[in-house]
Amino acid sequence: MMDNIISEDLEKTKNAVKGDAFAEKKALVTGGAGFIGSWLCDALVDFGADVTAVDDLSTGRIKNIDHLTKNPRFKLVKSDVCMFESKVKFDFILHMAGHASPDEYQVHPIETLQTSAVGTEKMAELARKNDSTLLFASTSEVYGDAEIVPTPESYWGKVNPVGPRSCYDEGKRFAEALLMAYGKQYGLDVRVPRIFNSYGPRLREDGLYGRAMSRFILQATTNQPITVYGDGKQTRSFCYITDTVTGLMLLTTNSKAKGEVVNVGNTQEVSILELAKKVKETTKCKSTIEFHPLPKDDPKRRCPDTNKLERLVGWKPTVSFEEGLKRTVTWFSQKP
Ligand code: UDP
Repeated sequence: MMDNIISEDLEKTKNAVKGDAFAEKKALVTGGAGFIGSWLCDALVDFGADVTAVDDLSTGRIKNIDHLTKNPRFKLVKSDVCMFESKVKFDFILHMAGHASPDEYQVHPIETLQTSAVGTEKMAELARKNDSTLLFASTSEVYGDAEIVPTPESYWGKVNPVGPRSCYDEGKRFAEALLMAYGKQYGLDVRVPRIFNSYGPRLREDGLYGRAMSRFILQATTNQPITVYGDGKQTRSFCYITDTVTGLMLLTTNSKAKGEVVNVGNTQEVSILELAKKVKETTKCKSTIEFHPLPKDDPKRRCPDTNKLERLVGWKPTVSFEEGLKRTVTWFSQKP
């Protein structure tokens, strides 16, 4: 769905990124119907790229991209990334496919691992054949329950290799190692953003797919209790989607990012209880806050050190938590 909020936001993204690098180029976006993937498709089409989105719609939603399907610059291929084949010589591959919601990926641990392992190998081979630049969506989850916060890229992580989150964490860690190996062995141009919690329009809110931010907004706007896990003292740092997309596009086009692993996220750390209260305040709802058991291995604190991103590509977040939350709530309440 494309609406005023999204088109205004895309306009700002356009001003923050020099889009010339994408004009007349061929781009592949895996997970193109997903939250971040669909924003990237919108921005790339706007910049004049020919965009192929691959998505099996297991977690992505057709409504995120249906406004693009009539655009001659856009094509959707419904396929699992692990099975995707193409003879097109893509200039850029943005590999975003994956199960991102902890409640949902824990129900599909094998698929989650396969997307990161098999899917990433497929994309690395495709990029190698065509000499493409490959941007891989890694995650703050590679740090696990980090002991150093704000966390720099040099921190190795504290991950339970056999815990409930390991299908996601270890899958992404394997993919990072694989891409570093492709860089070393074949000189492949790989760039690895570690994306911290992102939010905004199109973040799924429903059922197991819902993330804390979007689920709380749904609960608040439908007069249901807001479900805080544990005591809510655990923290996350929420980055508004336009800042995330800007960071990813700068990393795709700036040659300084070649071979680099770089945090992308906002540095304003917020507790989950604070998030619940802010959602209540912003939506002016009457929902109560209900406490539920904390899931096993839920990271206690999460906040990126973004000095490297700033140094490499001159990126800084521009949307405050309050402003981003307001825009997201407005978008959710206008949604049909
Ligand atoms: N969380 C919560 N209630 C929910 C969903 C999530 O309190 O209904 C908590 C979750 O335990 C975690 C944080 O909110 O500590 C962020 O959850 P999210 O779903 O965004 O995923 P994560 O950041 O853990 O990958």
